Amino acid sequence: MNRTHTCNALRPADAGQTVTLVGWVDTKRDLGGVTFVDLRDRAGVTQVVFRPGQGNLQETAQRLKTESVIEVIGQVTARSADTVNAKLGTGAIEVVATSIIVHNICADLPFPMDDDKADKVNEDLRLEYRFLDLRRPRNLGLLKLRHAAGRAIRHELDEQGFLEVETPTLFKSTPEGARDFLVPSRTNPGEFYALTQSPQQYKQMLMVAGVERYYQMARCYRDEDLRADRQPEFTQVDLEMSFIDREDMYKLIEGILKRTWKETLGVDIPTPFPRMSYQEAMDRFGIDKPDTRFAMEIQDFTPLFKNSAFKVFNGAANTPGSVVRAINAKGLADLTQGELTNLETIAKSQGAKGLAFIKVEAGEWKSPITKFFSEEEKAALKAALKIEDGDIIFFAAAPWEQASNVLGRIRLESAALLKAKSRLSLPTDQYNFLWVIEFPLMLWDEEEKRYISAHHPFTAPVKEDEPLLATDPAKVRGQHYDIVLNGVELGGGSIRIHNPAVQKRVFEDILKIPQDLVDSRFGYMLKAFSYGAPPHGGIALGFDRVVAMLAGRSSIRDILAFPKNQNGRDLMADCPSPVTAKQLRDLRIRTVEEEAKPKA
Ligand code: ASP
Repeated sequence: MNRTHTCNALRPADAGQTVTLVGWVDTKRDLGGVTFVDLRDRAGVTQVVFRPGQGNLQETAQRLKTESVIEVIGQVTARSADTVNAKLGTGAIEVVATSIIVHNICADLPFPMDDDKADKVNEDLRLEYRFLDLRRPRNLGLLKLRHAAGRAIRHELDEQGFLEVETPTLFKSTPEGARDFLVPSRTNPGEFYALTQSPQQYKQMLMVAGVERYYQMARCYRDEDLRADRQPEFTQVDLEMSFIDREDMYKLIEGILKRTWKETLGVDIPTPFPRMSYQEAMDRFGIDKPDTRFAMEIQDFTPLFKNSAFKVFNGAANTPGSVVRAINAKGLADLTQGELTNLETIAKSQGAKGLAFIKVEAGEWKSPITKFFSEEEKAALKAALKIEDGDIIFFAAAPWEQASNVLGRIRLESAALLKAKSRLSLPTDQYNFLWVIEFPLMLWDEEEKRYISAHHPFTAPVKEDEPLLATDPAKVRGQHYDIVLNGVELGGGSIRIHNPAVQKRVFEDILKIPQDLVDSRFGYMLKAFSYGAPPHGGIALGFDRVVAMLAGRSSIRDILAFPKNQNGRDLMADCPSPVTAKQLRDLRIRTVEEEAKPKA
């Protein structure tokens, strides 16, 4: 085309030039017999002026509907001082049109395109018209941010000697992990691929293959229930390295994130990041991904209540493995009954029977339980929790993990309530990065009555804990690390097992995966490990979450070009969608609905 400039290029020094601009009609107004069009492209906005007296030029401009696509030839003219628009890069000039080509008239818009108004429009409607929604400068800005973040990460990895290798997305279904998306194989009737939940096994094979440093912006698929920070398909910055230990990994990731924050936001994030063990995170914050922008820390009162007259606390305090713990939600005593009921529901969802609390108002401790407390118990609570008027204290008396989970959830919910009441500030431009380390290697699954991997079955145990594998697997710590930012898990990984005998033991003796399943699902890995596997480890960063954090957005849908909605639907293309009977026949698949239908 004949485009000479973008809509963010012209400045007063260009006055007198004849230019050709293209773009979308952002706004149009008629003023004093003259028509003004703000012409917008990806780069910005330029004001174009249509004056009367040049054939039907102005009439054409007057008939333009917003978001129509036009091409304009005109002369750059400096604006008079009183009409300069300081908010626009091009605000000191305008282009006086001499001709116009209308490339496309825009139909009636389903919602206003103004960023502030459009952001409030129902998300499903915006997703149906995502091509329009994305066209808004704010959303194009998010795509640019995503691009810049990806560029920073790629540059850093390239400089650190990583090879970008693509691995298949059609893979093998494996029993551990989330639910797979299955893909039927037409050429192998009755057999299925699974879409990769992550390239975990391939990247480990690349290490055996001698790649040493691999990365990939990997598309991953998990058939899980969706939430604001989950999509059925997502992108991971997936990487793996040979001949490294955990310290090398921390340094690499800190370097990547530092560069990304600098090159996208211009923000210097201090490194190294603090580290916290899983045990400490659970003890203090009740969660393995603590938001450390605020305190409201959990405190332990188990010894205090060992002789208490309050049976519930006394019982927990004297049960091995159980604890009595509390948090002070400072300044939240005036929460509504509805808010309190909601907190109780949350506590119950974590297995608690209820949620014991003390409200402190006008010097009085209002609570059904304080009548059982001794003066000594009250004084100890008051001192440790720094209890003042206006506070509300929440308790959990339960097994350690449950008490942590309950208070962890109550802490986050209380913070959200305090934030909504403007009593707590949680700035999205404060970046509290944190490594959470020393996770247990295994967790006991009460339903399945067996151990399951806390991360995945390829994670290596901490060296000095290895002997415990045979005697007390629950005590073995894994060489697993998570990178957390403001309460969001940005990614995680581990140093891997590279010894085939240890890997086989973990599969069969600890995880109790039947030997034939181990052979059919993981046999090739064990085989590969017996052909000279180097020590190796890796990590995957959720790229969508990284970008959402950079953008200060809580939903990853905002920073994906074409996200699925909360029901996993692409509302623009309208899928998932039915397929033809022939397609199903070719795949030798019969749907249950079809079986149920009476034969025609
Ligand atoms: N594949 C793992 C995940 O997706 C990350 C890793 O261990 O590298 O969580």
